[in-house]
Amino acid sequence: MHEAALAHTIVELIRERARAAPFKHVKVVHLTLGALAEVEADALSFGFVTAARGTVVEGATLQIERVPGDAVCAECGARRPLESQHEPCGACGCVELSITGTHELVTEVEVS
Ligand SMILES: [Zn+2]
Repeated sequence: MHEAALAHTIVELIRERARAAPFKHVKVVHLTLGALAEVEADALSFGFVTAARGTVVEGATLQIERVPGDAVCAECGARRPLESQHEPCGACGCVELSITGTHELVTEVEVS
């Protein structure tokens, strides 16, 4: 995952919302970030500032909330939240987990 590309996607998403329901300034962007997304929060914040420059999003704070990803065990089929890619299945100890969700999501945008 490239943080700069993700930051750009987030800014574009908010700019689209701004076109639909005009607002002058974005104060805070709440973002849910899956533990499995392999996104560096610091790099993402830096990319966000760069991507936001000159747009309605400029100066907004990026609030990142880390959440576990979703995975399904290949061995026993247990569905579970996963904090890291190398974590074994809690039910059978198998490490063959297939990731079903990583959760990069803009959850809320505070505007003025
Ligand atoms: Zn299992």
